[in-house]
Amino acid sequence: MNLPDYDHIKVLGIIDELGPNISAIKKRTMLGMEQIERALEFFEKNGLIEKSQSRGFFGNSVIYRTSQSGKDELAQYIQYLKDQWKEIIDIASQKGRAELDESVRTKPGIVSLMVFFGIVDLSLLSRLNLRHLVSANTPCYVCKKELDLKFMQKFTIREIQKCHFAIPAGMAISDSICAECFDHLGK
Ligand SMILES: [Zn+2]
Repeated sequence: MNLPDYDHIKVLGIIDELGPNISAIKKRTMLGMEQIERALEFFEKNGLIEKSQSRGFFGNSVIYRTSQSGKDELAQYIQYLKDQWKEIIDIASQKGRAELDESVRTKPGIVSLMVFFGIVDLSLLSRLNLRHLVSANTPCYVCKKELDLKFMQKFTIREIQKCHFAIPAGMAISDSICAECFDHLGK
């Protein structure tokens, strides 16, 4: 497997789906520009994306596309995630909670990645009483709504300060709020 890093896998997945949509990548991975550039560099070096120049109205711009080997790599990884999910289901139905928790603990973040690629969804996890597997993300500090994993757009004190909004009472550096509550602060 050429893709050791979960963030890299997400970035490659988004490029494959939407093209080099940097704002989508930022929003859905919560990565900074520097990390995204490092991922792109890695993909290019390993032949997972192809770079081409596009002559446009505003001059030349660079276009990225997943190469065939990038697509193969991604397909292979998604298959791996599906197999892992089957394994989780098997353990959940045949063994106990403790075995399940142990098997997931050895691969942190993998269930979140499954959610990201749509292999499982949060309502299915809830129905199977497995919702806690992705409970690493925190709820909105204000409304306590779960911050969605796939399109999670959350705001910390830094963003609130940047917009000169009033910080909710008692909110800490590690807390986040949802987009709705963020908009509300500005009103
Ligand atoms: Zn909220």
